[in-house]
Amino acid sequence: MKPRPILFLLLLSVAVASAPAARAQDKGSVDPKPLPPLANPNDPKLGAKELFGRKVLPAAMPTRVLGFYAHGCIAGAEGLPINGDNWQVMRLSRNRYWGHPDMVALVKRLAAKARKDAGWPGILVGDMSQPRGGPMFTGHASHQVGLDADIWLTPMPTRKLSRDEREEMSAVMMVREDKLDVDTRVFTPGHLAVIRAAAQEPTVQRIFVNAAIKKALCREARGDRNWLHKVRPMYGHDYHFHIRIRCPPGSGECESQPDPSEGEGCSAGDLAYWFKDSVLHPKPPKVPPKPKPPMTMASLPAACRAVLAAPDAKQ
Ligand SMILES: [Zn+2]
Repeated sequence: MKPRPILFLLLLSVAVASAPAARAQDKGSVDPKPLPPLANPNDPKLGAKELFGRKVLPAAMPTRVLGFYAHGCIAGAEGLPINGDNWQVMRLSRNRYWGHPDMVALVKRLAAKARKDAGWPGILVGDMSQPRGGPMFTGHASHQVGLDADIWLTPMPTRKLSRDEREEMSAVMMVREDKLDVDTRVFTPGHLAVIRAAAQEPTVQRIFVNAAIKKALCREARGDRNWLHKVRPMYGHDYHFHIRIRCPPGSGECESQPDPSEGEGCSAGDLAYWFKDSVLHPKPPKVPPKPKPPMTMASLPAACRAVLAAPDAKQ
């Protein structure tokens, strides 16, 4: 399916903390062009993404989460190895396989559980955060503090993917053309098992999936359903799901979000909004919204300046 730029812009303005923009299916390049040096890196109007997007390694500092999922940064992030027993990292050119050590550990645990619970060879990991977090050139409003990760809704193949395949391969669309339910030819009990395994992790606070997937989980979850309340409907998220963990203990500078309410969120009323025609098929606005100015350093915690200025961590 082709991206729809108007819808994309519209949705970006709707949900700052969880924009739909993380398109697992967008391709990358094995040979990305390095970004040119900035003429005036101290310009207060400069988009912070220009500064964070030029850092290829984490800050050599103790781990600190600074700010909120959608406006912050991280010091001392850890890299997820690009190959593990049960995982492979996709779109390596984006250099977004960094996160808080707790998030890295969680992805590794989830990878093992995908094998055990779903019988998958493993998981394909999409975007986590940039080496120092912060806003990005493309996609995501969140993923800025090392506490968010996207997991493809496609099992890992049994072989090691090439660099090229990791840029070119597409995830599988899980939602039916009419957007009212999952496509049962591709959505399997294994998908449910992997999402459930993630939601049952105590540190996971929220999981974002397309409303059609939430509806399917509500219908198909057997036994313990206590994890369902963490799984929240969201625009997009039909090729991948998004995991968000709480502020880790001792992260006093991390801005937390309240826990989602305890209800399963499975009633027709809970899901009604998402299946309204105006939400499924939004009309393009008559006047295209003005592009928002980029997030500047002034929107981020002051300590993020020190994170940018720190030397590269040794890897
Ligand atoms: Zn995401």
